[in-house]
Amino acid sequence: MEKRFAGRSAAPGLALGALFPIANGTGTRVASGAAESEAEALRSALSAALSDLSALIERSTEDAAAILEFQVALLEDDVLAEPAHAAIAAGSAADQAWLQALQQEIAGYETSDDEYFRARAADLYDIRDRVLAHLTGSATETAVPAGAIVAAVDLAPSRFLAIDWSRGGALVLTAGSTTSHVAMLARSRGIPAIVGLGVDVDELSGLALVDAHRGVLIVNPGPAARVQFERDAETAATARTLATAAAMKPAVTADGTTIRIVLNIADPRELSDLDPAICDGIGLVRTEFLFHNQQGLPDEEQQYSTYRRIVEWAHDRPVTIRTLDAGGDKPIPGLTPTGESNPFLGVRGLRLSLAQPDVFRTQLRALARAAMHGNVKIMLPMVTHPRELAIARSMLDAEIAALTAAGIPARRASLGIMIEVPAAAIAADQFDAEFFSIGSNDLTQYVAAAGRDIGAVADLADPTQPAMLRLLRYVVNAARAQHIDVSLCGDAGGDARAIPLLLGAGLRTLSMAPALVGNAKLAIAAVDLRSVMESEPWPT
Ligand code: PEP
Ligand code: MG
Repeated sequence: MEKRFAGRSAAPGLALGALFPIANGTGTRVASGAAESEAEALRSALSAALSDLSALIERSTEDAAAILEFQVALLEDDVLAEPAHAAIAAGSAADQAWLQALQQEIAGYETSDDEYFRARAADLYDIRDRVLAHLTGSATETAVPAGAIVAAVDLAPSRFLAIDWSRGGALVLTAGSTTSHVAMLARSRGIPAIVGLGVDVDELSGLALVDAHRGVLIVNPGPAARVQFERDAETAATARTLATAAAMKPAVTADGTTIRIVLNIADPRELSDLDPAICDGIGLVRTEFLFHNQQGLPDEEQQYSTYRRIVEWAHDRPVTIRTLDAGGDKPIPGLTPTGESNPFLGVRGLRLSLAQPDVFRTQLRALARAAMHGNVKIMLPMVTHPRELAIARSMLDAEIAALTAAGIPARRASLGIMIEVPAAAIAADQFDAEFFSIGSNDLTQYVAAAGRDIGAVADLADPTQPAMLRLLRYVVNAARAQHIDVSLCGDAGGDARAIPLLLGAGLRTLSMAPALVGNAKLAIAAVDLRSVMESEPWPT
């Protein structure tokens, strides 16, 4: 029987497919400290991984089953886990022991002279992650079938990223919020998403239609719903054609004001099929993606080569790379603090970088080196007090001096700050930054005291409410008085409904997910700043 559930649209789009419920897990693990319980944790993760594989084999085609059976054979061979058990006996935590043992095994396969063994390394990666997922309490994302409608209570950003969305699909969350990081990722990937469905995930199974324009999920759709879906799909295809055409044109308002459009990316793979002519540069690279790597923290070389690739993609356009913004709803096991009563008010963003100076220095060095290849701007997240900027600046200068002394080419990129903490917005004139970028997602949650991950207060987390517009106008004016650039890189920047108000508040540079550029340019073309200015009683 057809069932309809209403939620909120977090990323527009339509999808038809089988629902795939996944369990919720935080992806972090606290070691017990006792060798016997760590060994037991590893044994049960191995056996859980084996049951996953058997279940997968049952619903797989013959060729896929053959691959999975190879993995089963590997897992069943005690030799694979022997080094991990030895490390546990010597005091390692189960997840670390497993990771290191598998890394060694993978390296052996990857460097083998035999083509057959080299080709099997991918299976080992798969096994490594599946067992690790059980050890850390997160689901085995590799099991999500292509094109599925993923249903969950909420989803950690790293788990979203681990799912292969290349063949479509959609995300439906029974809780969640439109301003959470996972919602943002869905928008940037063009994956339809609905949040706040307010039902039990167990009710979500079978075939379903996702109308993420209206925020409606239809389970077991009847003939009428399917006909409507076909019609909507046609209308959406026409709108997409218009937006695709607009994306490659300049962003100009009806009165002829040019607006600069820059991109938000959370993973450089988002750029692979993108023509740089779509934008005026990159307004926000969220570097957290580098730190979710399970092999440990990225070293200077890894970071440098990734940043360099992004900078080279952009040619001479500016590329704003944000230093690590971990914490809040973006925990990184082993790096971010655990047990904070309110992680959004805790050690996150720049606060974490200053508390972990070695990690921060490595990133600053990689950024200063990448700056040799283009127009790099370094952006600090979650800045609260001017002294934090001063400390970061002196650390950047010291790293550049050290690199130069060692004969390693490096350049002093401009150093700016995100304005996303009310203290920084209210005292924007006190910050000696080289640019500002307004993080409207966090700024809204802090101004409105409405958590960005709490669906029940989503209405209050409106970036265009009077207090926010007043603050935006103030920050824009403070930037103008200091003769520095100001942009906005929160989600509001790519929201067609918010754009007229943001332009009205004085913003002329907006940063947004690549998938939103076309629609944003259409929205900009419809704004006449002369009438916006006249009709809005902007507070000064
Ligand atoms: C913001 O807070 O608006 C922002 C762009 O940063 P993030 O969404 O990554 O916290
Ligand atoms: Mg933020």
